[in-house]
Amino acid sequence: MKHPLIKILFISGIVISQAFFSFGQNPQEKDIIQKAQEEAYNKTRTVTEGKNADYIPYLAKVPSDLFGIVIVTSSGKIYKIGNTDFEFGIESISKAFVLALAMQTVNPDTIRINIGVNATGMPFNSVIAIELEGKSPVSPIVNAGAMATNSLIKGSTKEEQFGKILKYFSKLANRPLRVINELYQSEAATNMHNRAIAMLLASYGHMWADPIDACDSYTKQCSVGITAEDLAMMGSSLANGGIHPITKERLLSEESVPKVLAVMGMEGLYEKTGEWMYTVGLPAKSGVGGGILAIVPGKMAIAVFSPPLDGAGNSVKAQKAIAFIAQKLGFNIYKP
Ligand code: GLU
Repeated sequence: MKHPLIKILFISGIVISQAFFSFGQNPQEKDIIQKAQEEAYNKTRTVTEGKNADYIPYLAKVPSDLFGIVIVTSSGKIYKIGNTDFEFGIESISKAFVLALAMQTVNPDTIRINIGVNATGMPFNSVIAIELEGKSPVSPIVNAGAMATNSLIKGSTKEEQFGKILKYFSKLANRPLRVINELYQSEAATNMHNRAIAMLLASYGHMWADPIDACDSYTKQCSVGITAEDLAMMGSSLANGGIHPITKERLLSEESVPKVLAVMGMEGLYEKTGEWMYTVGLPAKSGVGGGILAIVPGKMAIAVFSPPLDGAGNSVKAQKAIAFIAQKLGFNIYKP
């Protein structure tokens, strides 16, 4: 191997085959992912920090020790460990998917102009954020913007309107999902703050349906029951450029995938998103039900469920487990 060109070809051959061996279709991929997942589970399972959300009474009653991690790769392979079959409330994670659904009929630029795509840096149900940002909802994945986004989904009846959301979520999960009625009743009885936000937005001209109907449909979308496996499956289309890796159906346009991920990268973990992106570097969305979904574009969706939350509303164990897996597998969207 005297000639320098041969040497370069040889070295780049090693690099390419190593990259392929790390995350291509090969038996080693299984071992690498499974091992990272198991280690994340074992290292995190004893964490005791955090507390279930209790402003929605149903959520306070969910067993705090449940913990499950599911990875679905962009080629449709599933890796699971722990309590991956327990049905919990999707809550705020629904916001990313309703945004994706709205983008099927509304141009992403219309979302930017009429709802906003900036970070609020404030709690998910902040009223001050609306006032400070020129009386606008600021982001489709805080409560205000999520209700405004919900109001962009049209139906001739309330049932038809929500039916579109549930059908879309079910296609993403690749199984028929349902609203957890007890959770919905619990949220609907205690959502005065959200109703007030909806009315405020309507007064500023940022609602495209009756505000109380939009708030109710939003409350239902948050009460959809998913397992950790459903959540990873729902995220797999986002990881795979918009095409569901198993059904092969295009569920998000090519244009909307990076937009949804950008919004997640800005606001996905509420006011702690900056710290999350700085330390982990993956677009993610959390919900007060205890789920977090993180996306590694082109590679995989990582979903973790564990109810105890930090002060901002993000599952403590889920953050740690995803951070561990991302670090172990070398995933960070800011790294080459
Ligand atoms: N349904 C919850 C609410 O509106 C969702 C909050 C969240 O998960 O961030 O308060």
